[in-house]
Amino acid sequence: MECIFCRIVKGQAPARIVYEDETVMAFEDLHPQAPVHLLVIPRRHLPSLSEATAEDEPLLGRLLAVAARLAQERQLAGRGYRTVINNGAGAGQSVFHLHVHLLGGRLFHWPPG
Ligand code: AMP
Repeated sequence: MECIFCRIVKGQAPARIVYEDETVMAFEDLHPQAPVHLLVIPRRHLPSLSEATAEDEPLLGRLLAVAARLAQERQLAGRGYRTVINNGAGAGQSVFHLHVHLLGGRLFHWPPG
C-alpha cells in the first residue's frame, strides 16, 4: 500500500488542502489535536527528518517557512503556536512521510507528552 501522504499529493486520497506549491503541500489533519492542526509536507517522499540529507536543507527551511506563513494567516502568532516533527515510532511518528505539524488556537504545555 502506497504512502497515504504520497496518495494525497497525487490527488488519489482525499484531503482538505490549504496550501500547495511546487515543493510542499499543507492540509488539515484528519484527527485534529487543536482548533488549528495542519500538516505541512514535501511533495517528494522523504520518510523522516533523520533521512534528510544536506541537499534537503532548502526543503526543510521551506516546510518551516510555509508553516509560519500559515500560522500568520490564521492569526496564531499572537497567542503562540507549536510546530512539531515526530521522528521515529518512539517519538510518535505514525506516517512515514516527513511532515511538520502546525498546532494552534489553544494553550500548550511543556514538556510535551
Ligand atoms: P505523526 O504521528 O507525527 O506521524 O502524524 C501523523 C498525522 O497524520 C496524525 O496527526 C494523523 O492524524 C494524520 N493523518 C493520518 N492520515 C491522514 C490523512 N489521510 N489525512 C490527514 N491527516 C492524516
